[in-house]
Amino acid sequence: MLIDYHLHTVYSHHAVGTIDDYLRRAKELGIQEVCFTEHISRQYLSEELKRQLPYTWMREEELELYLRDVKDAGERTSLNVRVGLETDYFAGFEQELGRFLASLPVDYVLGVVHLLPMYGFRYVMDVKDEPVRFLLTYFDYVRKAVESGLFDSMAHINLGWQAVPWPEGADGQLVEDALSAVVASARKQDMCLEVNTRAFNFEGCGTREAYERFLRLIADYGVPITLGSDAHNPKEVGRNYPEALRTLAYYGIKEAAAFVQRQRHMVPLAAVVVR
Ligand SMILES: [Zn+2]
Ligand SMILES: [Zn+2]
Repeated sequence: MLIDYHLHTVYSHHAVGTIDDYLRRAKELGIQEVCFTEHISRQYLSEELKRQLPYTWMREEELELYLRDVKDAGERTSLNVRVGLETDYFAGFEQELGRFLASLPVDYVLGVVHLLPMYGFRYVMDVKDEPVRFLLTYFDYVRKAVESGLFDSMAHINLGWQAVPWPEGADGQLVEDALSAVVASARKQDMCLEVNTRAFNFEGCGTREAYERFLRLIADYGVPITLGSDAHNPKEVGRNYPEALRTLAYYGIKEAAAFVQRQRHMVPLAAVVVR
């Protein structure tokens, strides 16, 4: 089965394409199930914190419309259509976020660390710092997000090692131990980690070696994955799937998680894909 659990639409204000445009493309590619994961609006945060964040993304008043639009689109197509949110983790707002998420009719909540408070809420990929210090800080914050238990999966952890080069020698091992602690916590929480296929573009300092290190840890700890393209344009649905699926198969990862009303079930991944 083919699924894509990370899609953005015009609701992001930095992506193009309507929900129907994405569904059309998914169908062309033979993808049977999709989940839209619009950036959550941040009405659960304090005014003070909101003022410090560099991006607005989906607006507060659009959330209800988005949820309804996805639901309605699902009724017009033969595809399985799920509704989700890509939700920034901010330490200190766990209770507020938990209450907010519990009030929403969503299938899937994808947690994410895009903005780090200790770096003035700068976007991860734009932080300039010494690589070891940066990666330990980033992985530590991601681990806290995992331990919050608020999310079904954590999105694109690869942003960390795309922002700075993976250190050599003993420092490299230190960083790998920190990544390993994130994967171990996911195992303990019984939650997923995302294989975001945009990672196979190897942007910034990203390398195949670093990504395979991550996949090896996932396989070793037996952490379930979610799979998504992070499409911001209908053309990006299922991006890099042939390469990603081949690599997953190499590491013995044969299933991905799917969600209905935040209940997880595993689906077998297709071996060959995408026309
Ligand atoms: Zn993201
Ligand atoms: Zn995204």
